Amino acid sequence: MDFQLSDMHKMVRRTTREFAEEYIAPVAAESDQKSRLDPEVMEEMKRMKFFGASIPQEYGGAGLDTLGFVIATEEIGRIDASWSITFAVPASVCSYPIYLFGTEEQKRKFLPALSSGEKLGAFVLTEANAGSDAQSVQLSATKDGDEYILNGSKIFATNGGIAKTLLAVTTTGTVGRRKELTMFIVDTDTPGYSVGVREKKLGVRASNTSELVFQDVRVPEENILGKRGDGFKLTLAILDYGRILMAAQIVGLGQACLEKSVKYANERVQFGRPIGSFQGIQYKIADMATEIEASRLLTYKAAHLCDIGQDYGLIGSMAKLYASEATMRAAHQAVQIHGAYGLTKSYDVERYFRDAKMAEIYEGTSEIQRMVIGSSMLRKYQ
Ligand SMILES: Cc1cc2nc3c(=O)[nH]c(=O)nc-3n(C[C@H](O)[C@H](O)[C@H](O)COP(=O)(O)OP(=O)(O)OC[C@H]3O[C@@H](n4cnc5c(N)ncnc54)[C@H](O)[C@@H]3O)c2cc1C
Repeated sequence: MDFQLSDMHKMVRRTTREFAEEYIAPVAAESDQKSRLDPEVMEEMKRMKFFGASIPQEYGGAGLDTLGFVIATEEIGRIDASWSITFAVPASVCSYPIYLFGTEEQKRKFLPALSSGEKLGAFVLTEANAGSDAQSVQLSATKDGDEYILNGSKIFATNGGIAKTLLAVTTTGTVGRRKELTMFIVDTDTPGYSVGVREKKLGVRASNTSELVFQDVRVPEENILGKRGDGFKLTLAILDYGRILMAAQIVGLGQACLEKSVKYANERVQFGRPIGSFQGIQYKIADMATEIEASRLLTYKAAHLCDIGQDYGLIGSMAKLYASEATMRAAHQAVQIHGAYGLTKSYDVERYFRDAKMAEIYEGTSEIQRMVIGSSMLRKYQ
């Protein structure tokens, strides 16, 4: 077992950290308040190929392995959760699945523009009646010659209002008593497609989360990812991979809670001493540091298993579950350590507290992760 990062991974951490501190940190609070992604940051992220993080260079990407992608995501998450979700979601659950499961023609057609960020991607599964229960998807795809006609809507789509390429989970009928799900790559310039309501959220407010409407949207059959009927299997595989990156985002946010808490605890003087000298504050910081490090180790292990071609689904679920809840606790304590200022816009921990809540819900709630882990344990040790 080698816990040392390679020179390449250290370089990814260093360059991403420099970028995030120089470009994102100065505008993060304002972006949150205005619920808007800074255009200059967007251009720099495109230039540095963040949107094609794990896509091989022959398709226009940065060619990172999963651990490299995780480290980059963690570093962006350390500065701003809105930006970590904006880039890691399309890179992990839109372009990477096209690379893994797409035909050579699909890869050549879609990946260069997704990798450069010229076209932003989105993965659209959730609907009004299909949240945790992916099988309940109602966006219909009806075959008509060599095209399918899509009708219905999606909600809570990250990048929904700005995406140009979607991976959309549809239903193409029933097989026995089960719905047949099929995944399509959809160009949002197609007639009949429109963006609905943009959500006003508690956290990750700069990230665009929108409703999408499909009215007789014609998609060529050649845009099916995998085969007709593969949609559910692909959805599970895509979410497995996405959870590693979700965990990475939230490890970064937890690290930010820790660093800001230590800084404040060293500066704030009460009873004639920095509050960090009190054992009650040190205990909080010790718990935060320990839990964030444990989250990081689980996340890196999931990424490593993925990189060496081993099954990573279970460890990925554990990483996502543990990191989400550890970071929520860290954000809670970060606000506590900041006292009344923790509730104000004067300090970043107020934003971190709101952003942290997202992780317990998105890409499979904590309850769903526990179902996955619990059922796996019951099979393993029966
Ligand atoms: C910021 C943000 C971004 C998002 N981006 C995307 C995106 O890009 N693409 C996309 O498709 N979706 C996206 N989502 C949606 C997200 O994946 C769903 O919100 C999530 O899967 C949960 O679905 P739901 O909100 O409908 O909750 P529900 O499924 O209605 O669950 C409600 C509650 O019931 C619990 N519950 C449900 N079933 C069970 C069970 N069997 N046992 C125990 N408890 C259960 C849940 O854990 C939860 O606490 C996003 C959500 C957020 C908040």
